Amino acid sequence: MATRKTVRKKAPARKATPKKAVARKPTARKTAKKAAAFKLTYATMFNPPEEMHTRFDAALAKTKAALGKEYGMIIDGKEVRAAERFEDRSPIHRDWVLGVFQKGGVEHARQALAAARKAFPRWSRMPWKDRVRMMRKAADLIDQRIYDFGAVLSLEVGKNRNEALGDAAETAELIRYSCDRVEEHKGFVVPMGKDPITRFNIRNVSMLRPYGVWVVISPFNFPCALTGGPVGAALVAGNTLVMKPATNTPWTVRLIAEALRDAGLPDGVFNYVTGPGSTIGQELIESPEVDGITFTGSFDVGMKIYRTFAGGRYARPTILELGGKNPCVVTRKADLERATLGIVRSAFGLQGQKCSANSRVYIERPVYDQLVSRLVEATSKLTIGDPTVRGVFLGPVINEDSYRDYKQFSEELSQSGKILTGGKVLTEGAMAKGFFCQPTLVADLPLSHRLWKHEMFLPITTLAPVESLDEAMKLANDTNYGLTAGFYGSREETDRFFDQIQAGVTYANRPQGSTTGAWPGYQPFGGWKGSGSSGKNAGGHYYVQLYMHEQIQTLVS
Ligand code: NDP
Repeated sequence: MATRKTVRKKAPARKATPKKAVARKPTARKTAKKAAAFKLTYATMFNPPEEMHTRFDAALAKTKAALGKEYGMIIDGKEVRAAERFEDRSPIHRDWVLGVFQKGGVEHARQALAAARKAFPRWSRMPWKDRVRMMRKAADLIDQRIYDFGAVLSLEVGKNRNEALGDAAETAELIRYSCDRVEEHKGFVVPMGKDPITRFNIRNVSMLRPYGVWVVISPFNFPCALTGGPVGAALVAGNTLVMKPATNTPWTVRLIAEALRDAGLPDGVFNYVTGPGSTIGQELIESPEVDGITFTGSFDVGMKIYRTFAGGRYARPTILELGGKNPCVVTRKADLERATLGIVRSAFGLQGQKCSANSRVYIERPVYDQLVSRLVEATSKLTIGDPTVRGVFLGPVINEDSYRDYKQFSEELSQSGKILTGGKVLTEGAMAKGFFCQPTLVADLPLSHRLWKHEMFLPITTLAPVESLDEAMKLANDTNYGLTAGFYGSREETDRFFDQIQAGVTYANRPQGSTTGAWPGYQPFGGWKGSGSSGKNAGGHYYVQLYMHEQIQTLVS
């Protein structure tokens, strides 16, 4: 469970201050204790202890000294090589080859599914307490290796160090959260009522049991948490697994595969394959050998997977976590300082490449000019550059395609609206070798423009004045998406916002992020409408159950 004693610890009772108190320097032990008590979440990451920086820098130096190695796929516990390979290059600097990975194909998908099928009987029949123990060990290993994960995540995705460490820390939390739910429900074995018959003794038991072979396909932007979360739930529930990461982020996911292997999972329980979505991914979604799938990624690919998967012999569970076009509403009664901080963090954190990014803002007219000038000022102060460097907030966008999209969207927006700040790619100095884009705020875009509804997935946010809260809520809900939403206004107004907003994760008056920054156990994460298929949020009460089907066992004696 995410709530640890360190977080909830009550403040000690205040002692009377001695008259001549001597100011003492904190000892090394005290500093270390303080650092250990710190719990990194997306809400606390803005002010981490010094130790986090020292340890990150050490891990980064170690990681950078060992770039360019070749990594296999892991199928049935063995390292598997393909005939072709691909290079994993950093978006920070195109010349940095982080690693060389296997371009797996159809036959590797089949091998991995066969290995998972073979491993299923043993893994699913293992007592649930043993599975929980192994998965907890994997979570602990991720925690122990967190700085190595952070360095790789920063180099591979272009996350700043806080975001990178957050992604890894969240992964361990998500795995533990599923373990906690299985324990809390005692393996989901529930005795039911006895039939009201006198001559027979009838025992009824409800059990949640695993489906079989599960496929997880993850996106590039949270390669750690969006792999570890579904993988942790599927495995602890008793399924075996085939995992395919995004082509841009195979290394991070390989680290998860290694943590699971080192935690002692039997061969074949977790299989890691790499290669293009269009070939190896396609085979995974077309195969009749798959009993369930979790896909996190774009709406278009997700819907294609949904339709393809539905072409099987019968309906199988399909958990889709898709895109977002997340609104924020600011009323005339809002605290504008909080709104500014929250909106800028959520619009531009990870370069706007979060499914939860705040990509549109509706502001009541009386405070529109004031908030807009605050937002422009705060945005112009954001630091951009190599995100592994301490203090840098924005890194590069993920690849050439996103870089090109940014230039095209900026051009289109400058013609139909007004770019208040940003709108240009950055090519000076070392940034010339990466995909760096300015954080961009746009005003005066007609509300009928297509980019109010299209997920750009870039550091671009559009702003519009509205006449009333009613109008703002109507516009906020007027998309196919329903992932996250933010609000700044009075206490009374927040009730209306929560009641009317169509989104799975909603925040009011939050400076830590208007629409981003969910954490397992605090803000379970999932979407409504076109943003998600299950209606149950990851890192929440109802998630691990999605990976099991119910069986009633009636025994008459
Ligand atoms: P994509 O949809 O492009 O890709 C996601 C994954 O699908 C990748 O592993 C990709 O592999 C794979 N894939 C692509 N085509 C196929 C196919 N035909 N069959 C099987 N797999 C395939 O998304 P991005 O990686 O660009 O991620 C960004 C998107 O993810 C955004 O829309 C964002 O909103 C969404 N997202 C949603 C979240 C949520 O919780 N709701 C969280 C995070 C992101 P390859 O890379 O090899 O093409």
